[in-house]
Amino acid sequence: MHTFEGTFLGDTSKLKDDDCLECKVCHYVYDPKKGDIDQNIEPNTPFSKLPPYWICPICGCEKELFLVVRHDES
Ligand SMILES: [Zn+2]
Repeated sequence: MHTFEGTFLGDTSKLKDDDCLECKVCHYVYDPKKGDIDQNIEPNTPFSKLPPYWICPICGCEKELFLVVRHDES
């Protein structure tokens, strides 16, 4: 199994509430400010609060395959 830098590996305690996470398969980005209407996720739902059954709306992969999107300070 490969691990990628930034993969949170299901440890949501490392996530901030306003972190965006990107699917490493299809590059869909989950934005907590938008939620995911198609799966009944309300806007302003942190990634860490998504239900266990939530999957990528584009490719259907699991939450564990998402990467935290970090913005460089510079
Ligand atoms: Zn995906």
